[in-house]
Amino acid sequence: MGVSKEQRIKELKKKRIWPSVLGLFLIILIFSAIMIVAVTVSALDVVDRKLTDSSNMSVKIAKLFEAYGSENGKEIEKTVLSHINILDEIEAVSVIDEDENPVWSSNGEYPSLEDAAKVDYLPGITKNMEVIVAEDKAQVFIVDERGLNVDDSAVVNFKSLFNNESDDVTIALLKLWLVVPVNDMKVMVLNNTSIYVQDIQMALVCIIGCGLTIGVFVIYYLISIISMALSVRKTTKIIYTDMLTGGDNWLAFIKKGRKLLKKGIVQQKYAMLHLEMRKYRSFCTCFGVNRGQELIEAFYAVLKKEIKNKEVMAHQENSAFGLLLAYTDTAQLEARIHQIESALNTVLPAMKMYFGVGVYLVQPGERDIEQLYNNAMIACEMLGEESENKIAYFDVEMNNQKIWERKVEDDMERALVNKEFQVYLQPKISTSEEVLGGAEALVRWIHPTEGFIPPNRFIPIFEKNGFILKLDDYMLEEIAKVQAEWLAEGRKLVPISVNVSRAHFTREDLAEHICTIVDKYEVPHSVIELELTESAFFDDKKVLLNTVQKLRAAGFQVSMDDFGAGYSSLNSLKELQIDVLKIDADFFRGADVEERGLLIVSEVIDLAKKLDMKIVAEGIESKEQVEFLTEQECDLIQGYFYSKPMPVAEFAQKYNT
Ligand code: C2E
Ligand code: CA
Ligand code: CA
Repeated sequence: MGVSKEQRIKELKKKRIWPSVLGLFLIILIFSAIMIVAVTVSALDVVDRKLTDSSNMSVKIAKLFEAYGSENGKEIEKTVLSHINILDEIEAVSVIDEDENPVWSSNGEYPSLEDAAKVDYLPGITKNMEVIVAEDKAQVFIVDERGLNVDDSAVVNFKSLFNNESDDVTIALLKLWLVVPVNDMKVMVLNNTSIYVQDIQMALVCIIGCGLTIGVFVIYYLISIISMALSVRKTTKIIYTDMLTGGDNWLAFIKKGRKLLKKGIVQQKYAMLHLEMRKYRSFCTCFGVNRGQELIEAFYAVLKKEIKNKEVMAHQENSAFGLLLAYTDTAQLEARIHQIESALNTVLPAMKMYFGVGVYLVQPGERDIEQLYNNAMIACEMLGEESENKIAYFDVEMNNQKIWERKVEDDMERALVNKEFQVYLQPKISTSEEVLGGAEALVRWIHPTEGFIPPNRFIPIFEKNGFILKLDDYMLEEIAKVQAEWLAEGRKLVPISVNVSRAHFTREDLAEHICTIVDKYEVPHSVIELELTESAFFDDKKVLLNTVQKLRAAGFQVSMDDFGAGYSSLNSLKELQIDVLKIDADFFRGADVEERGLLIVSEVIDLAKKLDMKIVAEGIESKEQVEFLTEQECDLIQGYFYSKPMPVAEFAQKYNT
């Protein structure tokens, strides 16, 4: 089985939304990555710079201890303390000797050497340089041993450090002990390295830039996703809307029905209905297709009112509606159906409308709405075309019949090519001399897997689907061939009749068509008889009369088959000039009607004789029947009393005329 309709709709929806959602996700991912990289790089750079600054500063402070000794200790301590006061970044200074004994500390602390980072390099400052802090603490000069200013930029830097009154927001604070070896001592400087917002301006610009871009994209994608979702909703609505009624369509019916059965079937019994207006096509022919469509629309509105909560209904096609109704028992269901039919009849009060309803009683666990509906439809199909309100329930036999029809239709063309259809002949015996007076060709299907199939199992199907036209042509041709062979062999020929289904009488050139087939084998037309049923009379009478006339003129014998079966009309005998009347076997069946039946037969035989027709009695099984018919001077008898139909070869052998 292929993908279900619902799955297809789901796919359709998914395919439309997912690219946008994915796009949005990717954009956020890419920009976040850029942002993280930019922030990291710029933060690393800032930290690096700050650390360099700190180490420079620490080195400069440490240098003050180069000349530290008892004679100038106090002086240096004072200078260092004043530095600490001035420089925000320096919080404390501790000095230890080479044996790690405390020498001096600005705040009494001596951190362990492990906690401290060592600064073994003196970036930009050599041993010979000195840091001089101006009296007003506004300036620090770095001078070489000759007292010359070395680095103006350093001056500027220090100036800005001294004037560090900025209100910058600190975003990180690094507390770091840096150790600078000075002579035999280790000078440890506690650095407060603050990272201000200002320091990561680049990163901020980057964050804001990325943020804005992401924002724009997010908004764009959100808008596009929302509009897509709206359009998907709209499309979905269209997918589930019936354009004729404006209500639920078939897909919606399937979807809702399945949901309902999934939830409700445990507590509630459901019946699937196929409801259709009878003779809807005739209505459209009489009043126009537009009126027909308006009628369907009105039906929909009525049905919608009739449908209760937890039931579903939708227009299927033409005049058909599918209904999934809750019911308690079949009597209640039928009452409900009658009520629905009455409600539908209010649409056109001046006209009586009839409905055919096929019902399938849903069994627990069944959810395949299309299958259930198909069952309801099959039930309705079995009702035929009458003008009546009728309800039919689906049963398994109907399904088997449908499955069989499918098989027959699948196999028929192949069967014709492979000559699976075989001609059987049933003799017609003359009553006067008890000799062969004719035969009827009857088809048998020898199916490769099904075996022998009698005609009543496939002829009605072929009559419905039109394949009977090909089969009858085939049978006619086979008989013409057989007669030609027998003629060539010098046998005495008797007329063999073939059945011509009523479906042929739509073609005006039927007589010519039959001639063409028979003439291929150059057999005299008189040895071919064509059996048609009275029912053909009710189709195109003109074509029938014309064809019969042409066939008889061409020398064929024409017989009326099954006379007396179904709706016989003596009128057809009046209008139709034919050669042979075949009295149906029904006249001879049933004990109670026997006497009346035989009376009619004798009258019919009498009438036929007066009309100059030959009489063949069909389905004759008993000696008494044969005797009666002989007495009535019936011309030929066909029936099991003499012989069942048999293969051509067997027939040829048995009636080696
Ligand atoms: P039908 O044309 O009325 O054929 C007579 C049927 O009665 C045949 O059934 C035959 O076997 C049967 N029959 C003959 N004698 C007796 C009897 O004594 N007792 C009983 N119970 N039955 C008897 P069959 O061959 O099964 O054919 C059934 C129907 O199928 C035919 O009825 C005919 O309408 C149709 N059919 C058969 N072959 C063809 C064909 O090639 N073309 C068309 N269009 N219809 C065919
Ligand atoms: Ca027949
Ligand atoms: Ca017959």
